[in-house]
Amino acid sequence: MREKLTPHLRGIINSPGISKQYVKDPNDSIGGYNDPLMEDSHEVVKGLIHKYKNRALIKVSYQCAAHCRFCTRIRQIGDPSGNLADDEIKNIISYLKRHSEIEDVILSGGDPFLTPNITGEMLSKLSEIESIKVLRIGTRLPLQSPKSFKSLAIDNLLNKIKEISSVKPFYVLIHVNHPDELTNESIAAIKKIKQKSSATLLSQTVFLNGVNIDFNTLNSLFKTLYFAGVTPYYIYHCDSVKGIEQYVGDIELEKEIMRKLRDTLSGIAYPTYIADLENEYGKYPFDLGIIKTTHNKAHKSKLHTEINIT
Ligand code: SF4
Repeated sequence: MREKLTPHLRGIINSPGISKQYVKDPNDSIGGYNDPLMEDSHEVVKGLIHKYKNRALIKVSYQCAAHCRFCTRIRQIGDPSGNLADDEIKNIISYLKRHSEIEDVILSGGDPFLTPNITGEMLSKLSEIESIKVLRIGTRLPLQSPKSFKSLAIDNLLNKIKEISSVKPFYVLIHVNHPDELTNESIAAIKKIKQKSSATLLSQTVFLNGVNIDFNTLNSLFKTLYFAGVTPYYIYHCDSVKGIEQYVGDIELEKEIMRKLRDTLSGIAYPTYIADLENEYGKYPFDLGIIKTTHNKAHKSKLHTEINIT
């Protein structure tokens, strides 16, 4: 995957929290898996991954505004052959109509906000399928190119999402790993999504060596998201992707940070720490074990025994 940055990211590239995510490192590893989530073997028609019975993922394209070095889909990102043609969109819609067990569809890629016209067209068709109850879009565009949210095409997409979210739950999942990504411009773009689309905003984060495996960094990140109206949803242990294993952190250290965060963040601002398993279990939460707290033990002892807190 070639290096690709936006003018916005170039303006904040001096932050190690940004540069480590985007700038090629001569020490990139060679280990890891090409397709760690085994998506390719579950691609039932071009662009549609049907891996879990009631959920499906659509890759609208392989295009992103910038290329994240640690991307799970590093093998595909930037390849123009991932753009979906009209007949390929028809094939996806036809598969989803035939498979009424699929209730929850996520649009990803690539970044669906980078191709707002195709994404809008796709959403219109998906919203008409009665068996689909929930729609989601994953994006990183507010952090990579907040200016894009001033375009008419994105306005139209946000209006489309608003129309759909009045009849079906709609989630926008923002992938963010470091508080330095949340510039004033990016927060303004995120707030615009919230105000204009009425979708529920959630965040996804990946533990990344050299970027955010640190209590203060993540405490600041989740608080900033929470205060901007985004609910921290998941924090992933980094997938073992071919060529980027240097980003994969130590699980015990990550657990320790999650235990500490539990004491400082309010419940809504506290994401679930998970691993994305390649098998049928999908995303699975880590057991954080016994949590040490400073609560009054005498007062809380019975409750703490019940929930395994000492
Ligand atoms: S924006 Fe998402 S899909 Fe695109 S390169 Fe980054 S992590 Fe991968």
